[in-house]
Amino acid sequence: MSRYLKVGEFFSYCIQFLIGKRMIIAKSQKDMDKMRAAGELIAEVREALRVMVQPGVSTMDLNRAADKMIRDGGAVPSFIGYHGFPFSICASVNEAIVHGFSKETPLNEGDIVSLDMAATLNGFVGDTAITVPVGEIGDEIKQLIKVTDECLVLGIEQCYVNRRVGDISWAIQQHADKHGYGIVRDYTGHGIGRSMHESPQIPNYGRAGTKEKIRAGFCFAIEPMLNLGTKETKTLADKWTVVTLDGKPSAHSEHTVAVTQDGPEILTLTKEQKSTLKIEKAETVSA
Ligand code: MG
Repeated sequence: MSRYLKVGEFFSYCIQFLIGKRMIIAKSQKDMDKMRAAGELIAEVREALRVMVQPGVSTMDLNRAADKMIRDGGAVPSFIGYHGFPFSICASVNEAIVHGFSKETPLNEGDIVSLDMAATLNGFVGDTAITVPVGEIGDEIKQLIKVTDECLVLGIEQCYVNRRVGDISWAIQQHADKHGYGIVRDYTGHGIGRSMHESPQIPNYGRAGTKEKIRAGFCFAIEPMLNLGTKETKTLADKWTVVTLDGKPSAHSEHTVAVTQDGPEILTLTKEQKSTLKIEKAETVSA
Protein backbone atom coordinates (compact mmCIF):
# COMPACT_ATOMS: atom_id res chain seq x y z
CA MET A 1 0.00 0.00 0.00
CA SER A 2 1.44 3.31 -0.94
CA ARG A 3 1.84 6.46 1.07
CA TYR A 4 -1.04 8.88 0.93
CA LEU A 5 -2.03 11.80 3.04
CA LYS A 6 -5.48 12.44 4.47
CA VAL A 7 -6.55 15.10 6.93
CA GLY A 8 -6.38 12.73 9.91
CA GLU A 9 -3.00 11.50 8.83
CA PHE A 10 -1.78 15.04 8.40
CA PHE A 11 -2.55 15.77 12.05
CA SER A 12 -0.92 12.56 13.18
CA TYR A 13 2.12 13.57 11.15
CA CYS A 14 2.19 16.96 12.86
CA ILE A 15 2.12 15.27 16.25
CA GLN A 16 4.81 12.79 15.21
CA PHE A 17 6.89 15.68 13.95
CA LEU A 18 6.57 17.55 17.23
CA ILE A 19 7.71 14.54 19.24
CA GLY A 20 10.43 13.69 16.79
CA LYS A 21 9.08 10.53 15.19
CA ARG A 22 9.67 11.78 11.68
CA MET A 23 13.22 10.61 12.03
CA ILE A 24 14.10 7.61 9.93
CA ILE A 25 14.35 4.63 12.24
CA ALA A 26 17.43 2.45 11.74
CA LYS A 27 16.77 -1.18 12.61
CA SER A 28 18.96 -3.20 14.95
CA GLN A 29 20.20 -6.65 13.89
CA LYS A 30 17.43 -8.20 15.98
CA ASP A 31 14.80 -6.01 14.33
CA MET A 32 16.27 -6.80 10.94
CA ASP A 33 15.82 -10.53 11.53
CA LYS A 34 12.15 -9.88 12.24
CA MET A 35 11.89 -7.75 9.10
CA ARG A 36 13.41 -10.66 7.15
CA ALA A 37 10.84 -13.08 8.53
CA ALA A 38 7.91 -10.77 7.73
CA GLY A 39 9.36 -10.11 4.27
CA GLU A 40 9.82 -13.77 3.46
CA LEU A 41 6.30 -14.67 4.56
CA ILE A 42 4.64 -12.01 2.42
CA ALA A 43 6.89 -12.95 -0.52
CA GLU A 44 5.62 -16.54 -0.30
CA VAL A 45 2.06 -15.17 -0.40
CA ARG A 46 2.87 -12.97 -3.39
CA GLU A 47 4.28 -15.88 -5.38
CA ALA A 48 1.31 -18.10 -4.50
CA LEU A 49 -1.05 -15.40 -5.78
CA ARG A 50 1.00 -14.91 -8.94
CA VAL A 51 0.43 -18.56 -9.81
CA MET A 52 -3.29 -18.36 -8.99
CA VAL A 53 -4.01 -15.50 -11.39
CA GLN A 54 -5.84 -16.70 -14.51
CA PRO A 55 -9.07 -15.99 -16.36
CA GLY A 56 -12.08 -16.96 -14.23
CA VAL A 57 -10.37 -16.39 -10.89
CA SER A 58 -11.73 -13.43 -8.91
CA THR A 59 -9.78 -10.91 -6.89
CA MET A 60 -11.88 -12.03 -3.91
CA ASP A 61 -10.45 -15.56 -4.39
CA LEU A 62 -6.97 -14.01 -4.26
CA ASN A 63 -7.88 -11.95 -1.20
CA ARG A 64 -9.18 -15.03 0.64
CA ALA A 65 -6.09 -17.07 -0.23
CA ALA A 66 -3.73 -14.29 0.89
CA ASP A 67 -5.61 -13.74 4.14
CA LYS A 68 -5.41 -17.47 4.98
CA MET A 69 -1.72 -17.80 4.08
CA ILE A 70 -0.75 -14.75 6.12
CA ARG A 71 -2.70 -15.92 9.18
CA ASP A 72 -1.49 -19.52 8.81
CA GLY A 73 2.03 -18.08 8.88
CA GLY A 74 1.32 -16.57 12.31
CA ALA A 75 1.02 -13.02 10.97
CA VAL A 76 -1.74 -10.48 10.47
CA PRO A 77 -2.63 -8.87 7.12
CA SER A 78 -1.49 -5.27 7.63
CA PHE A 79 -3.98 -3.69 5.22
CA ILE A 80 -7.30 -4.83 6.65
CA GLY A 81 -8.59 -2.17 9.02
CA TYR A 82 -5.82 0.27 8.02
CA HIS A 83 -7.75 3.56 8.14
CA GLY A 84 -10.79 1.36 7.55
CA PHE A 85 -9.53 -0.48 4.44
CA PRO A 86 -11.85 -3.50 4.17
CA PHE A 87 -9.65 -6.18 2.53
CA SER A 88 -6.46 -8.10 3.25
CA ILE A 89 -4.86 -7.20 -0.09
CA CYS A 90 -5.24 -4.39 -2.58
CA ALA A 91 -6.30 -5.76 -5.96
CA SER A 92 -6.21 -3.13 -8.68
CA VAL A 93 -7.36 -4.21 -12.16
CA ASN A 94 -6.33 -2.52 -15.44
CA GLU A 95 -6.77 1.27 -15.00
CA ALA A 96 -6.80 0.91 -11.20
CA ILE A 97 -3.42 2.01 -9.83
CA VAL A 98 -3.57 1.14 -6.15
CA HIS A 99 -5.95 0.43 -3.25
CA GLY A 100 -8.46 -1.56 -5.37
CA PHE A 101 -11.21 -3.55 -3.66
CA SER A 102 -11.45 -7.31 -4.09
CA LYS A 103 -14.55 -8.44 -5.98
CA GLU A 104 -16.25 -11.72 -6.83
CA THR A 105 -16.25 -10.77 -10.54
CA PRO A 106 -13.93 -13.13 -12.46
CA LEU A 107 -10.82 -11.72 -14.10
CA ASN A 108 -10.82 -11.77 -17.91
CA GLU A 109 -8.17 -12.82 -20.40
CA GLY A 110 -6.16 -9.71 -21.30
CA ASP A 111 -6.65 -7.95 -17.95
CA ILE A 112 -3.78 -7.04 -15.70
CA VAL A 113 -4.06 -7.08 -11.92
CA SER A 114 -1.81 -5.29 -9.43
CA LEU A 115 -1.67 -7.15 -6.13
CA ASP A 116 -0.32 -5.22 -3.17
CA MET A 117 -0.04 -6.99 0.18
CA ALA A 118 1.61 -6.70 3.58
CA ALA A 119 1.98 -8.86 6.66
CA THR A 120 2.79 -7.90 10.23
CA LEU A 121 4.79 -10.65 11.93
CA ASN A 122 6.20 -10.31 15.46
CA GLY A 123 5.60 -6.58 15.28
CA PHE A 124 7.33 -5.90 11.93
CA VAL A 125 5.87 -5.35 8.48
CA GLY A 126 6.77 -6.73 5.05
CA ASP A 127 5.15 -4.98 2.07
CA THR A 128 5.26 -6.10 -1.56
CA ALA A 129 3.36 -5.73 -4.84
CA ILE A 130 3.32 -7.24 -8.32
CA THR A 131 1.38 -6.68 -11.50
CA VAL A 132 0.30 -9.93 -13.11
CA PRO A 133 -1.11 -10.52 -16.61
CA VAL A 134 -4.34 -12.50 -16.82
CA GLY A 135 -3.71 -14.97 -19.63
CA GLU A 136 -2.37 -13.33 -22.80
CA ILE A 137 -2.00 -9.55 -22.77
CA GLY A 138 -1.03 -7.00 -25.40
CA ASP A 139 2.61 -6.10 -26.06
CA GLU A 140 2.13 -2.49 -24.97
CA ILE A 141 0.94 -3.56 -21.51
CA LYS A 142 3.59 -6.27 -21.26
CA GLN A 143 6.23 -3.58 -21.79
CA LEU A 144 4.63 -1.35 -19.14
CA ILE A 145 4.89 -4.15 -16.55
CA LYS A 146 8.46 -4.98 -17.60
CA VAL A 147 9.62 -1.37 -17.29
CA THR A 148 7.87 -0.99 -13.91
CA ASP A 149 9.78 -4.04 -12.64
CA GLU A 150 13.01 -2.62 -14.08
CA CYS A 151 12.37 0.70 -12.34
CA LEU A 152 11.99 -1.16 -9.05
CA VAL A 153 15.35 -2.88 -9.54
CA LEU A 154 17.03 0.43 -10.48
CA GLY A 155 15.59 2.05 -7.36
CA ILE A 156 16.81 -0.81 -5.16
CA GLU A 157 20.28 -0.54 -6.69
CA GLN A 158 20.58 2.95 -5.19
CA CYS A 159 20.16 1.69 -1.63
CA TYR A 160 23.74 2.11 -0.48
CA VAL A 161 25.02 3.84 2.63
CA ASN A 162 25.74 7.56 2.04
CA ARG A 163 23.59 7.80 -1.08
CA ARG A 164 20.38 9.79 -0.80
CA VAL A 165 16.68 9.06 -1.04
CA GLY A 166 16.56 11.35 -4.09
CA ASP A 167 18.93 8.94 -5.86
CA ILE A 168 16.27 6.22 -5.62
CA SER A 169 13.61 8.58 -6.97
CA TRP A 170 15.85 9.74 -9.80
CA ALA A 171 16.81 6.19 -10.85
CA ILE A 172 13.14 5.27 -11.17
CA GLN A 173 12.16 8.47 -12.97
CA GLN A 174 14.89 8.48 -15.59
CA HIS A 175 13.99 4.94 -16.73
CA ALA A 176 10.22 5.57 -16.76
CA ASP A 177 10.71 8.86 -18.62
CA LYS A 178 12.69 7.08 -21.34
CA HIS A 179 9.55 5.11 -22.12
CA GLY A 180 7.21 8.10 -21.83
CA TYR A 181 5.10 6.61 -19.06
CA GLY A 182 3.09 8.67 -16.60
CA ILE A 183 4.77 8.47 -13.21
CA VAL A 184 2.18 8.57 -10.45
CA ARG A 185 2.94 11.55 -8.19
CA ASP A 186 0.10 11.24 -5.70
CA TYR A 187 1.39 8.05 -4.05
CA THR A 188 4.91 7.14 -3.07
CA GLY A 189 7.16 4.55 -1.49
CA HIS A 190 8.02 4.86 2.19
CA GLY A 191 10.10 3.82 5.12
CA ILE A 192 8.86 0.66 6.84
CA GLY A 193 9.41 -1.20 10.09
CA ARG A 194 7.15 -1.58 13.10
CA SER A 195 4.72 0.60 11.15
CA MET A 196 3.81 0.02 7.54
CA HIS A 197 4.47 3.68 6.78
CA GLU A 198 7.49 5.31 8.36
CA SER A 199 9.69 8.17 7.22
CA PRO A 200 10.97 8.92 4.66
CA GLN A 201 8.61 9.33 1.73
CA ILE A 202 10.17 7.86 -1.41
CA PRO A 203 8.65 9.49 -4.50
CA ASN A 204 9.06 7.80 -7.87
CA TYR A 205 10.44 11.02 -9.33
CA GLY A 206 13.08 13.40 -8.07
CA ARG A 207 16.62 14.64 -8.27
CA ALA A 208 19.78 12.69 -7.56
CA GLY A 209 21.79 13.90 -4.57
CA THR A 210 18.78 15.36 -2.76
CA LYS A 211 16.73 14.38 0.31
CA GLU A 212 17.73 12.23 3.27
CA LYS A 213 21.09 10.49 3.48
CA ILE A 214 20.80 6.69 3.46
CA ARG A 215 22.21 4.83 6.48
CA ALA A 216 22.71 1.19 7.36
CA GLY A 217 19.63 -0.26 9.06
CA PHE A 218 17.12 1.80 7.10
CA CYS A 219 14.28 -0.21 5.57
CA PHE A 220 12.38 1.07 2.56
CA ALA A 221 9.30 0.00 0.64
CA ILE A 222 10.13 1.04 -2.90
CA GLU A 223 7.16 0.97 -5.24
CA PRO A 224 7.08 2.49 -8.72
CA MET A 225 3.59 3.05 -10.13
CA LEU A 226 3.62 3.73 -13.86
CA ASN A 227 0.75 4.59 -16.17
CA LEU A 228 0.57 3.93 -19.89
CA GLY A 229 -0.95 7.40 -20.31
CA THR A 230 -1.33 10.38 -18.01
CA LYS A 231 0.16 10.51 -14.53
CA GLU A 232 -3.06 12.06 -13.23
CA THR A 233 -5.25 10.00 -10.94
CA LYS A 234 -8.69 10.06 -9.37
CA THR A 235 -10.25 8.18 -6.48
CA LEU A 236 -13.49 6.28 -7.04
CA ALA A 237 -16.68 6.69 -4.99
CA ASP A 238 -15.60 3.79 -2.72
CA LYS A 239 -13.08 6.37 -1.39
CA TRP A 240 -10.15 3.98 -1.89
CA THR A 241 -9.68 2.71 -5.44
CA VAL A 242 -7.29 5.02 -7.29
CA VAL A 243 -7.56 4.93 -11.09
CA THR A 244 -5.84 6.68 -13.97
CA LEU A 245 -7.70 9.79 -15.07
CA ASP A 246 -7.59 8.71 -18.73
CA GLY A 247 -8.64 5.10 -18.06
CA LYS A 248 -5.41 3.66 -19.46
CA PRO A 249 -3.71 0.77 -17.64
CA SER A 250 -1.29 1.15 -14.75
CA ALA A 251 1.38 -1.14 -13.28
CA HIS A 252 2.81 -1.33 -9.77
CA SER A 253 5.77 -3.25 -8.39
CA GLU A 254 7.12 -3.20 -4.82
CA HIS A 255 9.74 -4.74 -2.57
CA THR A 256 10.71 -4.11 1.03
CA VAL A 257 14.45 -3.48 1.09
CA ALA A 258 16.96 -3.20 3.92
CA VAL A 259 20.11 -1.12 3.63
CA THR A 260 23.12 -3.03 4.96
CA GLN A 261 26.79 -2.05 5.09
CA ASP A 262 27.21 -4.15 1.92
CA GLY A 263 24.30 -2.54 0.09
CA PRO A 264 20.66 -3.39 -0.49
CA GLU A 265 19.07 -6.59 0.75
CA ILE A 266 15.64 -7.38 -0.66
CA LEU A 267 13.57 -8.64 2.26
CA THR A 268 10.52 -9.67 0.25
CA LEU A 269 12.02 -12.69 -1.47
CA THR A 270 10.86 -16.27 -1.00
CA LYS A 271 13.20 -18.93 0.40
CA GLU A 272 13.61 -20.27 -3.14
CA GLN A 273 14.36 -16.82 -4.61
CA LYS A 274 16.97 -16.23 -1.89
CA SER A 275 18.75 -19.52 -2.58
CA THR A 276 18.74 -18.85 -6.35
CA LEU A 277 20.27 -15.44 -5.62
CA LYS A 278 22.98 -17.05 -3.47
CA ILE A 279 23.89 -19.48 -6.26
CA GLU A 280 24.00 -16.62 -8.80
CA LYS A 281 26.23 -14.56 -6.49
CA ALA A 282 28.56 -17.52 -5.90
CA GLU A 283 28.83 -18.08 -9.65
CA THR A 284 29.59 -14.41 -10.26
CA VAL A 285 32.37 -14.49 -7.65
CA SER A 286 33.93 -17.72 -9.00
CA ALA A 287 33.62 -16.62 -12.67
MG1 MG B 1 3.97 0.14 0.24
